[in-house]
Amino acid sequence: MKTLVIATFNKHKLREFQALCRKLKIKAVSLEAFPHVKPPKEDGKTFQENAVKKAREIARLTGLAALADDSGICIDALGGKPGVDSAHFAGPKRDDAANNEKVLKKLACVPDAKRKAHYYCSIAVATPEKLIGIVNGKVNGRILREYRGKNGFGYDPFFYYQPYRKTFAEIPLSVKNKVSHRARALKKAIALLKQL
Ligand code: IMP
Repeated sequence: MKTLVIATFNKHKLREFQALCRKLKIKAVSLEAFPHVKPPKEDGKTFQENAVKKAREIARLTGLAALADDSGICIDALGGKPGVDSAHFAGPKRDDAANNEKVLKKLACVPDAKRKAHYYCSIAVATPEKLIGIVNGKVNGRILREYRGKNGFGYDPFFYYQPYRKTFAEIPLSVKNKVSHRARALKKAIALLKQL
């Protein structure tokens, strides 16, 4: 059975990736199994750049195939920001509440019709020798003026998903995981994993 290193410490992401790997008969392990390996800094200008850098570096350091992702939210009225800075929009510390407050403040004068946004996720798969490929997933939504729901994380409480007429924090995780940017990228990643 092939082993694939998932370049994350995030248990929630790991579970999603592991479920997919099980179906493909690939053993997925997280970075917890490699305490000496430090993921590289995510300092790229695009999600793709960060995902590729992480996958290639982790494959090189572990000597195994690796899968890495990078994701975030892009808001039209903010010229696509926070984008790759989604985790640190309000400062160097990862702080979801502060990030959300900053977004709402910046959008305070933006009318409803101009509050479009999308989540984006890039996934890269690499072996120690080469990059196997990159796939992307996107989901469109709109930024509400208030928080709704307790599920999810990050920007989910004000990310309104029209097909369900709910925010991502109001729908169950099992449903979000079928339509999210990550789910859509993951579906496409099957073709990459089959090449291992
Ligand atoms: P990373 O891909 O773990 O670096 O995540 C980047 C950041 O994007 C997270 O810290 C969140 O702020 C945001 N983000 C990515 N995916 C989601 C999501 O599904 N819901 C809410 N926020 C997200």
